[in-house]
Amino acid sequence: MTWFVSRQMYYFSGKKVVEITEGKFPTNLLKNRFDGESKEYVNPLEAAEIAIQIKNAWNKMGGNCAGIAIGHRSDLYSEIATEFAVLESDELVLAWGKEAKEKLPKCDYCSSILGDKSIKNEIIPNEVFCSIQCFLKRANQLFGENDGLETNSVG
Ligand SMILES: [Zn+2]
Repeated sequence: MTWFVSRQMYYFSGKKVVEITEGKFPTNLLKNRFDGESKEYVNPLEAAEIAIQIKNAWNKMGGNCAGIAIGHRSDLYSEIATEFAVLESDELVLAWGKEAKEKLPKCDYCSSILGDKSIKNEIIPNEVFCSIQCFLKRANQLFGENDGLETNSVG
């Protein structure tokens, strides 16, 4: 799961928003102008913070941005026709980001968001890691150093 941050001008209403879209959403983009737009984020809280920065920078230039809208598009029709509701405040956008981040699967060693990285090994059942390094550190926690787990031999 990733979140795509972009500026949109909605087709029917003409409303301008900074949109946080679940998954990649490359259509109907305005020309890139601000740092962090038209990018995918693994961390929804980071996407929320970037969206707020873009909205503020856009409005400073007289962009008349109505705010930040968050949603998911499933097909071509919804890409064109769906207009997501604008959240009332930056606080609500950040609260969304925090909650979405909490729900994501994390590395069982370092607690970072797994994204599409998912290292599993039957040596440590039921745990998932973001990297070979985290897997090895966890293995060392559980089984001690020098237990035949050599960095070179895994992955
Ligand atoms: Zn990790």
